Amino acid sequence: MTSVLTPHLAPGLYIVATPIGNLGDLSPRAAHILSHAAVIAVEDSRVTGKLLNHIGVKRPMTPYHDHNAEDVRPGLIARMGMEAVALVSDAGTPLISDPGYKLVRDARAAGHTVWTIPGPCAAVAALTLAGLPTDRFMFLGFLPSKAQARAAAIAEVAGIRATLVLYESGPRLAVTLGALAEGLGDREAAVTREITKHFEEAVTGTLSDLAARYADAPPKGEIVLVIAPPGAPQAASAADADAALAEALTRLSTGQAASEVAKALGVDRKALYARALEMKGVGSR
Ligand code: SAM
Repeated sequence: MTSVLTPHLAPGLYIVATPIGNLGDLSPRAAHILSHAAVIAVEDSRVTGKLLNHIGVKRPMTPYHDHNAEDVRPGLIARMGMEAVALVSDAGTPLISDPGYKLVRDARAAGHTVWTIPGPCAAVAALTLAGLPTDRFMFLGFLPSKAQARAAAIAEVAGIRATLVLYESGPRLAVTLGALAEGLGDREAAVTREITKHFEEAVTGTLSDLAARYADAPPKGEIVLVIAPPGAPQAASAADADAALAEALTRLSTGQAASEVAKALGVDRKALYARALEMKGVGSR
């Protein structure tokens, strides 16, 4: 059997994950495949050229992207019957919000072997930073940019009991956060940015807080949004707390109403007690 760590690679298709910012994240196995593939199908030869330069190799590259995939795919499928063809994207794991699944589909249909060389993926890396449940998650890629289509896409997933993960750009971030708050309710979320790079950060808060934070200050760099599932503890808004207090005060004493609402909404009881007195026109002392 031919091992993928011998200089000669068996013919077939190799799906190679590459770094999402830190070149140190290129795995030795990925470097080995890229060093020995007969040809590397790339999104942008300048980007992959830098990566090859980093590992000190020169290999033939051929463009494979959304605009030429239909024309180029048959030639690549023919080649992988005799040679090792590698597929990379500009960053991260090919096929994840990047071209490639039809190449894998057709490679299998033609009877070729497909190997995966797993590695960095911004969606998974973001989940490890966000501090939100990871037992079930749903990857949404990029939401549509037009408001109506975006709202429809959000409504479609509002009832799904899973953490949501999506890609977004800085200029659209605040609008998207606002649309998510409206369509999903004000869930906890994390804006993860520039993962594995110098300015890596994860900013957490409710969707509406985050929307307000970024409204006048669109962040630079690459972004992944992670949103808590429905039913996870949500920060109650002041309006929610007022409505619940007003209702509880029709049945209970001030202290009991504050306790009940504090428990139901996970809000501070002392603050609710003071607010209840205010609402009754007593004023807190
Ligand atoms: N295939 C890639 C992967 O495995 O993550 C994703 C490709 S998609 C076209 C590019 C998007 O991924 C960016 O717009 C951004 O939302 C996200 N992304 C890529 N690198 C990132 C990074 N270092 N930090 C945060 N988000 C990143």
